Amino acid sequence: MTARRILIVEDERPIRDMIAFGLRRAGFEVAEAEDTRAARAEITDRRPDLILVDWMLPDMSGLELTRSLKKDKDTRDVPVIMLTARAEEQDKVSGLEGGADDYVTKPFSPRELLARINAVLRRSSPAASDEVVAAGGLRLDGAGHRVTCGEATVPLGPTEYRLLSFFMTHAERVYSRSQLLDRVWGGNVYVEERTVDVHIRRLRKALESFNVDSYIQTVRGAGYRFSTRPT
Ligand code: CA
Repeated sequence: MTARRILIVEDERPIRDMIAFGLRRAGFEVAEAEDTRAARAEITDRRPDLILVDWMLPDMSGLELTRSLKKDKDTRDVPVIMLTARAEEQDKVSGLEGGADDYVTKPFSPRELLARINAVLRRSSPAASDEVVAAGGLRLDGAGHRVTCGEATVPLGPTEYRLLSFFMTHAERVYSRSQLLDRVWGGNVYVEERTVDVHIRRLRKALESFNVDSYIQTVRGAGYRFSTRPT
């Protein structure tokens, strides 16, 4: 298996060096960029398996970069972890809503960062199952790693895909946030239960344009369920 390639977008050289050192030692191939322009050049040159994006960059904010990567169909599937010195809860939510797959607050230990990277990579890799599941107009194609509604592909980020694919293969059952964290996020201890809500919101938004967002149902006091039947 070839080494996974991680792009670090961070203008502070000492931090970039520290991260790059830890990642190389963990067996990753590392690419570096000091601003979003250099990041784009790197991405075009060779698509990374994951991108670490610092929030504060000289030419454009890391959040804007993440947003634009998630809008572009060529880069939408590349997982992004945002790095930031801002520990505010609101920033964290905007980071995730901007399309980031996870969020790490500075200062972080190399070990924590590595755990997060591995968890994100694990959940963004294609589902083991090749099954095709159809429910209420949605069709999950595990082998093709996509969900379609009629002729159209439902645009989903890696986490939303995992979430929807879990729901569709476990329809009608209610799952609590902690069960979802366990099953969809691989029990990553650094991910909080709130994260589940953020991704549920994103998933509903993606399904909204196909008029099937009602399939993701909130069960008060219990969690979430996928069902094509009205509540
Ligand atoms: Ca910075």
